[in-house]
Amino acid sequence: MSAFKTLDDLGDVTGKVALVRVDLNLPMKDGLVTDETRIRASAPTIADLTAKGAKVLLLAHFGRPKGERSSTQSLSLVVGAVEKVIGQEIMFVPEVVGPVVAQSVGILGNGDVAILENTRFWKGEEANDPEFAKAIAENGDFFVNDAFSAAHRAHATTEGLAKLLPAYAGRSMQAELEALDAALGTPVKPVAAVVGGAKVSSKLDVLTHLVSQVDHLIIGGGMANTFLAAKGVDVGKSLCEHDLADTANSIIETADKSGCTVHLPYEVVVSKEFAANPPSLRTCNVHEVAADEMILDVGPSAVEALGDVLKTCRTLVWNGPMGAFETEPFDAATVSLAKTAAALTREGSLTSVAGGGDTVAALNHAGVAQDFSYISTAGGAFLEWMEGKELPGVAALSN
Ligand code: ADP
Ligand code: MG
Repeated sequence: MSAFKTLDDLGDVTGKVALVRVDLNLPMKDGLVTDETRIRASAPTIADLTAKGAKVLLLAHFGRPKGERSSTQSLSLVVGAVEKVIGQEIMFVPEVVGPVVAQSVGILGNGDVAILENTRFWKGEEANDPEFAKAIAENGDFFVNDAFSAAHRAHATTEGLAKLLPAYAGRSMQAELEALDAALGTPVKPVAAVVGGAKVSSKLDVLTHLVSQVDHLIIGGGMANTFLAAKGVDVGKSLCEHDLADTANSIIETADKSGCTVHLPYEVVVSKEFAANPPSLRTCNVHEVAADEMILDVGPSAVEALGDVLKTCRTLVWNGPMGAFETEPFDAATVSLAKTAAALTREGSLTSVAGGGDTVAALNHAGVAQDFSYISTAGGAFLEWMEGKELPGVAALSN
């Protein structure tokens, strides 16, 4: 991992203005914030900077206003929720650039916090317009990026600003980068990857990248069906991308060449209808799936064997559930493998990093999220990182 500066590298910042990019793209219902996770993620960075006596200007986007002001997407709507989490009064500034921001900075005392308006009200944000970034930079002394979830976008407040001011990773960004580095950057070997979910087509780049990086690739979920079908297995009515047979086979070929063992389920849970606890539910060998059945989960003996693979590994990176976990009992394989990974992590033999919208939901459902070494809630940025892509927001911090 290329080196980046953290808040530990800051000198005396008393009275200095920190421009801090955070994730305040909060879920709302009836005008109220319904989940404060993202606010809590940035709280340590804000506390660190205010304790050091800096004036903190928070920068964030909210929704997709496409370069125009919109009253329903104003960050003024989240000020109360942020105040509650950080336990401090916050000034709202209805601009991101210009004299109003400068005047507000003049009013702020050392250790005070302000939220600037939704950066995406200005076209320059998503266009990464250097003039816009320069105008923002004029009101600050240094830049802190604490929004890993926005780091896959090269926008003015995720990338441009980092080139104009001394730039630092915030605590949340730092934790994410350290966890991701431990999982795929410079991991302790052997490394296992679990990739599941619905479709191969949505994770082609992830699979292609992982086979050259990991020792064991465990494929589950709907995408396993595509690999099984490519090998000539009749998967019945299962979700399957038959047109991707060649792609699946070439991924397996690349894995063989790179010394990566690919694990596909040899035993599966099937049923004729997709419903909770259906009467036609049964467990069988992958070669015994009937034409009118669909594969909805990995079978229990196969999951146990996968758990044994994890026991030989020191590092695990996980994206995608092993089955249709939202519907019982097709959550069984995901829950069982997650519990094994959690136990190995607690024992200290495994570093486990997971991410992805449904994956986080599945691990919460399994009740093991807090036992994993790190769970990324970054969505798109996490997947692009799993694809081996350089994230512009991270690259800009590393220079
Ligand atoms: P993530 O959001 O963690 O990246 P995905 O969106 O790729 O994960 O995949 C999650 C979805 O895959 C879930 O809705 C789950 O029901 C579905 N899925 C997993 N296994 C199967 C299967 N065998 N058949 C159909 N759908 C499946
Ligand atoms: Mg998903």
